[in-house]
Amino acid sequence: MPHPNIIVYGAHWCPDCRRSKQFLGEHQIPYEWIDIEEDKKAEQDVLKKNQGKRIIPTIVFEDGDFLVEPTNAQLAAKLGLKTKAGRNHYDLIVVGGGPAGLTAAIYTAREAIDTLVVERAAFGGQAAGTEQLENMPGFPDGVAGIEFAQRLRRQAERFGVELLQAQEVAGVYQKDNYHCVETADGSQYSCKTLLIATGSHYKRLNVPGESDYMGSGVHFCATCDGPFYKSKGVAVVGGGNSAAEESLLLTKFADHVTLLVRGEAFKATRFIQDKVMAHPKIDVRWHTEVKAFTGARSKLKAIELINNQTNRTEALPIDGVFIFIGLTPNTGFLKSSGIALDQWGFIVTGHAIKHAQGQPAAFKHRDPFLLETSTAGIFAAGDVRDASTKQVVSAAGEGSTAALEIREYLKHV
Ligand SMILES: Cc1cc2nc3c(=O)[nH]c(=O)nc-3n(C[C@H](O)[C@H](O)[C@H](O)COP(=O)(O)OP(=O)(O)OC[C@H]3O[C@@H](n4cnc5c(N)ncnc54)[C@H](O)[C@@H]3O)c2cc1C
Repeated sequence: MPHPNIIVYGAHWCPDCRRSKQFLGEHQIPYEWIDIEEDKKAEQDVLKKNQGKRIIPTIVFEDGDFLVEPTNAQLAAKLGLKTKAGRNHYDLIVVGGGPAGLTAAIYTAREAIDTLVVERAAFGGQAAGTEQLENMPGFPDGVAGIEFAQRLRRQAERFGVELLQAQEVAGVYQKDNYHCVETADGSQYSCKTLLIATGSHYKRLNVPGESDYMGSGVHFCATCDGPFYKSKGVAVVGGGNSAAEESLLLTKFADHVTLLVRGEAFKATRFIQDKVMAHPKIDVRWHTEVKAFTGARSKLKAIELINNQTNRTEALPIDGVFIFIGLTPNTGFLKSSGIALDQWGFIVTGHAIKHAQGQPAAFKHRDPFLLETSTAGIFAAGDVRDASTKQVVSAAGEGSTAALEIREYLKHV
């Protein structure tokens, strides 16, 4: 898809502007953001386009066309994203177009298993939002996450995988011996076998103010939102690899990065720890927790901190905060599917099913495949799976393993 030249006119306090920006960000579509409260000429442009009304977001496209307060579906249609499948039934439906899902689809399509991939955002998953993947075998100089995602997508297309984008799977159920998915637009598709590869997402702090400033001061993706903080001061919350890596990335934009760590040491690898500690723009505060986000007119101004050893509190003025405190699996849509999940919501597969719930009825006459869930014929791969290792290569490896198991499974149905 060619990259459109898009301008989003909005204001920092506007939730619909944040939603539109998030949609464009998730689909890796570059856009220019203009806050009409800070740009009087832009405000005039918005008034002119809307017959004197100050309606935002007003989103102007390369062809001169514009949308006012569009829904995500309207945005997807305008951007030419394919959100509906060509048929109702497939051999395999893959939910999630990250490294696990797309690798599986590449393998199955090559085996003439007709495959539909349903992705709620952009292809590539978390890997696409990563600045640089340094540990991909075969890429001695590293590869940008976005480039890796585009390569995966092209490869899947080359083998004839049908790809839906900007379409969320809302539920999974069984009907007449088929597995079925229902998408957010109410469409229903059936298949002989289903692969869940929906990955995970960042955990929130769940403290006052966090959701009020989401997208206008509180962020979860430095690659997406870091450039908004050129020459400003930001804080990063977390002590693991992601927090440390993203702090380093943010130093490219921000003047100063304060890294807030709850404990007394990092959980990040030694190599990254050393880089963080040696960086002149990064200041690390140990035993520090965020109690609240505060601001005015929906713009973040400060964070309230507490030292969990001394109980000393402090208000730290800040322009933006990036939170990297761990992952939650994307399995909410499986709630009523009957598929066994572990205590954190990750999908249980293979022999672990027996530990979780004894021998399910579905496996009276055979053992489950390694990546099969407690529902026969439904598989899981990648970060969404219990005991997965949360790496691109292992997610892709699980995708290929699932595909080969699916090939075996399909021989008998
Ligand atoms: C900041 C960051 C840096 C990282 N750096 C590295 C690194 O350097 N090296 C490395 O090996 N790994 C790295 N990782 C980890 C790596 O990105 C993941 O392990 C990998 O992407 C997991 O792949 P996956 O396909 O299992 O899941 P994901 O990449 O999470 O993909 C899942 C996809 O499913 C989609 N989805 C979710 N729910 C639904 C639904 N209901 N309907 C439709 N679609 C849905 C999501 O939108 C997503 O695109 C990093 C991760 C992050 C966040």
